[in-house]
Amino acid sequence: MNETPPRVHAEIDLDAVRENVRALRARAPRSELMAVVKADGYGHGAVACARAAVEAGAAWLGTATPQEALALRAAGLRTPVLCWLWTPGGPWREAVEADVDVAVSGMWALDEVRAAARAAGRTARIQLKADTGLGRNGCQPADWADLVGAAIAAEAEGTVKVTGIWSHFACADEPGHPSIQLQLAVFRDMLAYAEKEGVEPEVRHIANSPATLTLPESHFDLVRTGLAIYGVSPAPELGTAQQLGLRPAMTLKASVALVKEAPAGHGVSYGHHHVTSAATTLALVPAGYADGIPRHASGRGPVLVGGAVRTVAGRVAMDQFVVDLGSGDTGVRAGDEAVLFGPGERGEPTAEDWAQASDTIAYEIVTRIGARVPRVYLHESESARPGDGPGGRIGHG
Ligand SMILES: *Cc1c(COP(=O)(O)O)cnc(C)c1O
Repeated sequence: MNETPPRVHAEIDLDAVRENVRALRARAPRSELMAVVKADGYGHGAVACARAAVEAGAAWLGTATPQEALALRAAGLRTPVLCWLWTPGGPWREAVEADVDVAVSGMWALDEVRAAARAAGRTARIQLKADTGLGRNGCQPADWADLVGAAIAAEAEGTVKVTGIWSHFACADEPGHPSIQLQLAVFRDMLAYAEKEGVEPEVRHIANSPATLTLPESHFDLVRTGLAIYGVSPAPELGTAQQLGLRPAMTLKASVALVKEAPAGHGVSYGHHHVTSAATTLALVPAGYADGIPRHASGRGPVLVGGAVRTVAGRVAMDQFVVDLGSGDTGVRAGDEAVLFGPGERGEPTAEDWAQASDTIAYEIVTRIGARVPRVYLHESESARPGDGPGGRIGHG
């Protein structure tokens, strides 16, 4: 770290990412693992986390947008990458030339990728996405025969190779939800149809983090794990990160900006939704909704300050919020560390705690941490692990 302590920063423990990838691979031992690093690695930093995941054995990387996939290539990562969220006029040619697998959910996309492949003079790697019930992206069963037929014709003309058939769950975070088995059945049908027609995919996949953790029959050739590689539990129903054998990679810390005495009856922060009940000590934490701290956590978000977990007092503002430390000398001084969330190993709250305090999911808590918050990487090069061979810096293919 540099000499000036940052106002707020997110420590990212890349050894935790490596451990989580290894733990998830052990959960899906017959499948390869795709580390999903969309949205800047769920707020953790896409390139650093992708490298760590590949070092720990991730055979694939996944992103939402083609720009995210191209950024991984620009950083030197040669691992297979799939990106799935396309709009007409997207950078198909750049993706084809960068050897990025592209998802195709409909005929317009197949037409654009064929044209791009022709222009590039290369065969595009495409993965056909089936809507098996999520009702979001993907091809409806009723349109599948047309899409598969057109993809096979495009293979014959040499513009594309269908490298994958895949889908995505709607309710995998609710084990036992009836849609899960229905989606699996539809997926098997759509897959069987494509294979009967002559498609020979390298990878078939449907499992996200919750399905990887709870549903072995969904693992197929590849599991697409996002949140779990960052060590965060996808849902309280599945257990805490610790119960799932995962270690949170992100710790969000701020440096207390001001500590001061305030009399009884003093309103705190915009709207005066907190009023001191007695003479008390207030501490100012310099992080706000511009940094991704949910305004919904006003009056509720937990913070470890001065050895105890306190609660956000009043509203979270754009750049800062206040905690009411209570009366007596708390020992807290300006410059002390306030930990908003982390692994929970030293008494600090977790991202799951913030999700509950903000009526949202832990996915959103880590992903929304803003661009104004510097990421500080711990263990950028892999720590030596006894009994292991040499760990390569970046996986090449
Ligand atoms: C985000 C995403 C994933 C990863 O989901 P997690 O629940 O974070 O593991 C997998 N597949 C698709 C299509 C996604 O959009």
